[in-house]
Amino acid sequence: MDNCIFCKIARGEIPARKVYEDEEILGFHDINPQAPVHFMLMPKKHLASLADATTDDVGMLGRILALSGRLAREQGSPDGYRTIINTGRIGRQDVMHLHVHIIGGPEPLGRMLPRAGT
Ligand code: AMP
Ligand code: ZN
Repeated sequence: MDNCIFCKIARGEIPARKVYEDEEILGFHDINPQAPVHFMLMPKKHLASLADATTDDVGMLGRILALSGRLAREQGSPDGYRTIINTGRIGRQDVMHLHVHIIGGPEPLGRMLPRAGT
């Protein structure tokens, strides 16, 4: 996808602070971290959102989740973390290339979501 910012990161056209890379998956720090640890794991292949995933993507999705614990520990979240996949308009997804946020740090995070309407 020519104009997708995360495809550009996957191709090395835009710099990113990488935390993990293999043939299929890239992990990199969020440019606007919401907690002491905040990085993302995504497929290098363009897939707009979780809502567009098919059974072809099951392996990749599983491998991303299976990597998350080790990487979160390595990045400074020793005792758990939060995974977030914002999806589409309702999920307030800004970058339309599927990515899993890994958010944590040395201390517990705040509430999962603000109360409705706030
Ligand atoms: P989402 O709302 O789930 O689509 O989140 C997109 C995330 O991408 C936001 O947390 C942004 O801070 C992050 N982001 C946008 N551009 C970049 C970039 N060039 N490098 C790293 N993170 C980025
Ligand atoms: Zn893309």
